[in-house]
Amino acid sequence: MSNDRALARIDLGAIRQNARRLAAAAGRAELMAVVKADGYGHGAVPVARAALRGGAASLGVVTAGELRQLREAGIEAPVLVMGPLELAEVAAIDGCDVVAWTPDFVERAGAVGRERGGVVRLHLKLDTGMGRLGARPEDIAGLVEVAAGTEGVEVVGVMTHFATADETEGPNAGFFREQLVRFRARFAEVKECFPSARAHAANSAAVLRDPGSSFDIVRCGIALYGGDPFGDDPDARGLRPALSLHSWLAAVKPLSSRDSAGYGRRYRAPRATRIGVIPIGYGDGYARSLSGANVLIGSREVPVVGAVSMDQITVDLGPEGEEQVGDPVVLIGRQGSARITIEDLARVGQTINYEVTCSLSTRVRREYVE
Ligand SMILES: *Cc1c(COP(=O)(O)O)cnc(C)c1O
Repeated sequence: MSNDRALARIDLGAIRQNARRLAAAAGRAELMAVVKADGYGHGAVPVARAALRGGAASLGVVTAGELRQLREAGIEAPVLVMGPLELAEVAAIDGCDVVAWTPDFVERAGAVGRERGGVVRLHLKLDTGMGRLGARPEDIAGLVEVAAGTEGVEVVGVMTHFATADETEGPNAGFFREQLVRFRARFAEVKECFPSARAHAANSAAVLRDPGSSFDIVRCGIALYGGDPFGDDPDARGLRPALSLHSWLAAVKPLSSRDSAGYGRRYRAPRATRIGVIPIGYGDGYARSLSGANVLIGSREVPVVGAVSMDQITVDLGPEGEEQVGDPVVLIGRQGSARITIEDLARVGQTINYEVTCSLSTRVRREYVE
């Protein structure tokens, strides 16, 4: 552990393997590895390289800064910048594809392309039910017309995004299919004018749920990292979690019955016990809502008790045991045959696995293993 309070170890072999798994699930569609938000907290550059080695054909990011980071690291693979961009950003970035959904943006991108003496490559985004970015059905014809009449742009893609691909039960179970049907109908409108535009819609959940949603490209994030998009055990779908989170036992001390630990005295020892203190807290991205989760010490599950503070958590080691200061602690990952997944933590924190890894702060060093 050297001097680290907490360390995230990223298994790049797992990333490669997950990329191969997703590329196979996608059939003849190409895999775009989504490495936005610093590769969901894993580190965009090493993850991008591993995904490309595992068979990804391109990379997806959201911001111009995220594109720049990849290019500065010498990564030359095709990149799609998916987020909304200011015109100044479009002018500043080159050698990538960008997403457009308004005629105004298409026209301004055309001006950038002409100025450059080339084209800005566009993917037209259709809103089929996400209700966020994308052209509404009644606006598609106008968007296509402007794109066709604007010099300096080339429409190379047509895309949409699913709102409920991860929901296979409950009131939204049918909406995925409805969006799929709408997309099929509406991208035809775009393809009529731009026959070579490649269609894409699927995120991780969609690829794993219905390979029929794969079209020409699939855009996968969470499953690439070995997270299960449905919040289940990733093992069941052959995904290998890439991130493990490690710390150590910084203090072990006895508490008498009714003694408290932590801010607000939220934990009162129900019996004489030993409290362990671990140097990780919400300042590291171990969320305050994770009070009640388990950590692994000596291959044993031990509960986090009391409030998670910024720099520390407290665990109830129980009245008896051999634990000592310096013992390794696993907060995410395996120790012996015991295991804690990001899906487990998401359940305790009432969130999704995506947020668990995205939250890890820069205070947690990332270490890469093959
Ligand atoms: C983040 C994102 C993805 C990846 O989604 P996962 O559920 O992580 O696979 C795909 N498409 C778009 C537009 C995104 O923003």
